[in-house]
Amino acid sequence: MTIQTPLPALAQERRVVTSIPGPKSQELLARRAAATSAGLGLTFPVVIERTQGAILQDVDGNSLIDFGSGIGVTNVGNSNDRVVQAVIDQAQMITHTCFTVAPYRGYIEVCEELNKLTPGTHAKKSLLVNSGAEAVENAVKIARYFTKRPAVVVFEHAYHGRTNLTMSLTAKNMPYKDGFGPFAGEVFRMPMPYPYRAISNPATLAQDSLEEITHRIEKEIGTHNVAAILIEPIQGEGGFIVPPKGFLPGLSEFATKHGIVFIADEVQSGFCRTGDWFAVNDENVIPDMVVTAKGIAGGLPLAGVTGRADIMDAVHISGLGGTYGGNPVACAAALAAIGFMKEEKLVDRAKHIGQILGDSLRALQAKYPVIGEVRGRGAMLAIELVKAGTKEPNTQAMQDVVKYCQSKGVLILTAGTYVNVIRFLPPLVMTDELLKDAIGVLEEAFASLK
Ligand SMILES: *Cc1c(COP(=O)(O)O)cnc(C)c1O
Repeated sequence: MTIQTPLPALAQERRVVTSIPGPKSQELLARRAAATSAGLGLTFPVVIERTQGAILQDVDGNSLIDFGSGIGVTNVGNSNDRVVQAVIDQAQMITHTCFTVAPYRGYIEVCEELNKLTPGTHAKKSLLVNSGAEAVENAVKIARYFTKRPAVVVFEHAYHGRTNLTMSLTAKNMPYKDGFGPFAGEVFRMPMPYPYRAISNPATLAQDSLEEITHRIEKEIGTHNVAAILIEPIQGEGGFIVPPKGFLPGLSEFATKHGIVFIADEVQSGFCRTGDWFAVNDENVIPDMVVTAKGIAGGLPLAGVTGRADIMDAVHISGLGGTYGGNPVACAAALAAIGFMKEEKLVDRAKHIGQILGDSLRALQAKYPVIGEVRGRGAMLAIELVKAGTKEPNTQAMQDVVKYCQSKGVLILTAGTYVNVIRFLPPLVMTDELLKDAIGVLEEAFASLK
């Protein structure tokens, strides 16, 4: 066996040494255009060579600040040392057996962790798959099997994935659904309380929404036909919409009362992101099922469905599975990532980052009326951009800010049904210095807006 010398650490600082994209990125982006499907989007037009912590280094040697974590995945930092070592060690031992053919320890241990970490002290069981969409599909399959009911209730602004069922559960037409139908049946969409854009009184928004939704479920679907209510406790792609206090507990209570499986899609909001292990912890909501992915394994593809043992055990043997689900290398990465989250108290780091970033964003809002709202929780924060003095979506300002930040070496992500939200999902290991440097660039971006 060859002994490899470890790579020198990647300095946790922003350094832009070429125009962006630089010449080497441009060359590879031309090959990308020639070789890859035109259906793939592109947020930041550079090609990445190496990552560490909160820095992405491109092929031209530019060190870029990561404000996206690969869409909320690398919560423990990019190429986290412990995750990398676990991947190497595990790959030498087992790369694949298929868990349903011949099981291995890591899968069992990840499920034990999920059963412990997800809310509630009741008996729980888990299933591992490869992606968030696959996990959502399985949660719905299991809920339908358990209840022997067909209908699934979802919400406006929801995002649950891109497979046929999850695309049907997702709200937004462009770019997720347009031209990709026909869609799956028995999916019913309800209004989502969106505090910034609500017409009703903010004080009664949660109650008003609950009344309308429960009334419509009763009258339009029939509670006895509903297998599951599926919701993101803080909506991700929809624009980090945080429902008003009382809404999630009320919805969960309604589900329980009618034997409906309450499923929290924590794919984006989970694993310390919001300053809790899961976003539902904030109001002590205990879902019947929790769907996880993204942050679970520090960058390796893994996803989970964790639920009440009676629900998870309802399905006949071999009714669930998949060739790669819970791959041993991905499981080893998850165990390392979860261990790191606990030991480094990333729940507290998320709150700390949220405090610094939130204060800065609110200060920016006071200065720039183009920022209509600052919202989110912990290190899952967003700003919604509008035309000054109105609530009219301002896509142009969003694009200008993103472009400016990119040119200065800061990666930020967008979101929102109205294409006017900038969302911040920094790795939770980002140093205060780097965070403040990125915020400085963001301030310059707003100052540069015409
Ligand atoms: C990303 C996401 C999904 C889909 O996960 P994939 O791994 O991309 O399939 C589902 N739900 C939410 C809330 C997400 O953010």
